[in-house]
Amino acid sequence: MDDLYREIIIERYKNPLFRGELEPCDIRFEDENPLCGDHIRIDVRLDETGHVKEAAFSGHGCAISQASADLLLESIIGKSIEEIKSLSKEDVIDLLGIDLGPVRLKCALLSLKVLKAGVYGLGVAHDELVEGH
Ligand code: ZN
Repeated sequence: MDDLYREIIIERYKNPLFRGELEPCDIRFEDENPLCGDHIRIDVRLDETGHVKEAAFSGHGCAISQASADLLLESIIGKSIEEIKSLSKEDVIDLLGIDLGPVRLKCALLSLKVLKAGVYGLGVAHDELVEGH
């Protein structure tokens, strides 16, 4: 693992910029990764034009799950719903900047899975939401 990127993950885990709750919000979803015990809830507020105005996450879990949520939310500010729907797991891997094994990948992709399930208005989150492309 590259030391530079590992620092970013630890920094965002300790001092997240987007941790919190938005009440009220336009999009809310939560799910967990039972393999690791990660739990993430994402709240999103949209502006009049349907772009992300504010986003926040809450929950608990390992450093990768929490840091990836923080970095993901930072990356979607100002984005449209359509742009969020087109995000792929490669985008999250790029944000983290490290190679991840299959177990850690589940941690890293939980936030994208939660975000996409919320954006699509689904009652449940499917792995296919982040495995595609
Ligand atoms: Zn985890």
